[in-house]
Amino acid sequence: MGECIFCRIADGKIPAAKVYEDDSTISFLDIMPANKGHCLVVPKKHYETLLDIPDEDLKNLITVTKKVVKALSLSIGNGSYNLVMNNGKEAGQLVAHAHIHIIPRFKSDRLRIKWSHKKYTDKEMKDVQEKIKKFV
Ligand code: AMP
Ligand code: ZN
Repeated sequence: MGECIFCRIADGKIPAAKVYEDDSTISFLDIMPANKGHCLVVPKKHYETLLDIPDEDLKNLITVTKKVVKALSLSIGNGSYNLVMNNGKEAGQLVAHAHIHIIPRFKSDRLRIKWSHKKYTDKEMKDVQEKIKKFV
């Protein structure tokens, strides 16, 4: 995966403002932050989306996410944040190497992560529920 920017950061081939690193996971500042302190948490191995990540690496990824959230909150004295993971082009994933965004939130920061709401009929909701349950 020579072209992948996050693989190159994980390999130390290009620089990043790292805040944490261990054998399987790395975290660094997003270069174009939604808010100052915006961090990315990235598995070192190249997995494209959530479903590609083996459970063991996923456990490490979420554990490191929690660790970085804690450090970020302590460092900026603020406990509000969004976790965002874009999976796939339609979801806005630009870098095809799985990653979790930690975005610290501030009063009146005017960031828009919330969506407009659609509606179900009762039947639609039941149908969707039943379809999903078949595959779980
Ligand atoms: P996504 O849309 O979820 O794929 O987000 C990719 C994120 O990676 C964006 O927020 C970019 O600002 C960030 N990004 C891209 N290249 C770098 C880099 N070299 N160092 C840090 N962050 C980066
Ligand atoms: Zn990669």
